[in-house]
Amino acid sequence: MENNSGVMTRRQFLQLSTIAGAAMVTGCAVNPVTGENQLMMVSRETEISMDKQQSPYQFSSDYGVLQNRSINAYIAGVGNKLASKTHRLDMPYSFRCVNATYVNAYAFPGGSIAVTRGILLKLSNEAELAALLGHELGHVNARHSAEQMSKASLSSLLIGGVSAVIGAKNSQLGELTQKIGMVGQGALLARYSRDNEREADALGNEYMVVSGYSTNGFVGLMALLNRMNEGHNDASQILFSTHPMSSERYETAIAMAGGKYASTRTSPLYRERYMDTIAPLRAQEKLVTALQEGDAFMGQKKYDHARASYQRAVKIDSRDYTARVMLGRCLLVQKNYRDAYTHARRGHEIYPTEGQACQVAGFAALQLKKYNNALKYFNTYDRLLPGNPTVLFFKGYSLDGMSQVEPAARQYAAYLGKVRQGEYAAHAYKRLKSWGYIKN
Ligand SMILES: [Zn+2]
Repeated sequence: MENNSGVMTRRQFLQLSTIAGAAMVTGCAVNPVTGENQLMMVSRETEISMDKQQSPYQFSSDYGVLQNRSINAYIAGVGNKLASKTHRLDMPYSFRCVNATYVNAYAFPGGSIAVTRGILLKLSNEAELAALLGHELGHVNARHSAEQMSKASLSSLLIGGVSAVIGAKNSQLGELTQKIGMVGQGALLARYSRDNEREADALGNEYMVVSGYSTNGFVGLMALLNRMNEGHNDASQILFSTHPMSSERYETAIAMAGGKYASTRTSPLYRERYMDTIAPLRAQEKLVTALQEGDAFMGQKKYDHARASYQRAVKIDSRDYTARVMLGRCLLVQKNYRDAYTHARRGHEIYPTEGQACQVAGFAALQLKKYNNALKYFNTYDRLLPGNPTVLFFKGYSLDGMSQVEPAARQYAAYLGKVRQGEYAAHAYKRLKSWGYIKN
């Protein structure tokens, strides 16, 4: 029976929940690197569209792309030089530095590649940067993300990943601010197998030497990873959960430098060019250290210590977006909504096109019952990073707080059209029912 009153019956509501996961086409594809068949359910077009859909969330979770054109252009220059020597010349590669201070680099399956401020500060020359980007290009070229996705469920990765960025799915409404400090980092990053890592290393080493760098850059990068792994640094946790087995990788790099690539050892490392270009980052070393300390304290739930570290960072550079957002999030966890709001708003002023400050400001505004402002920040977030269903819920919640029943109902219903489970869905459903939009 057709229902044109805008009221959903419970049955219609439940029928919506059968939204099919992404249709999967099973099959094999020829690996562009090995020429062998590979379990592959993901086409090149899917790799590119998944990249487009997910990488903006990861970049935002890493506090956006560094607002320094010359450093980004430099990384893109090195990256593109390597990309022109790869096996997949038809991929839309792109390279940037993100503001995050933990030590990592990653690639999305369509070729969107990022390095963090944290890792750039650890490298000592351009050849090491080339080794790092070469390794990530290796993952893209051997189609490792696609391979891992083919093994896992594509749809669960998509939905789980995206909602993890803004809030834990099953958190209680009242507890939401305590959760958001703990999610985000690395949630969308692929986990590769050991064989994937070996293959990416082999490709990365090849790409960087044929681009004219000394293989010693690859040895240098592996030595660095090995040292950091032994040091068990908090800032490198994600790096090693996605890149295990450091000593084996180091030994392989040494063997290659003594064998296959020995003739490239006299090729340049470009240490000065690297150090000169990243000089603005090196000037931020104290700030970055303070932020890394703050993150480590957050991980240990020592929020007073974390706040002190973040406050120190803000004092070092009051214009650092990351410091403002990290401090704002820590203050949210401590239920100091007023100060959280102040720092998040400041962060938004510093970097108006980056989403995380809007998220934190929106959450803080909700807690302060400034529903109008909360809605404004969630709308901005939605414009910057469209497609996150959790934002629909928070827009509904803001409108609900402003007693705008019909607009609130529309957002809640839109949310329920995308997410069927968890506390937020239950809350949205309850509200819609109490307003008569859903009838038994
Ligand atoms: Zn890797």
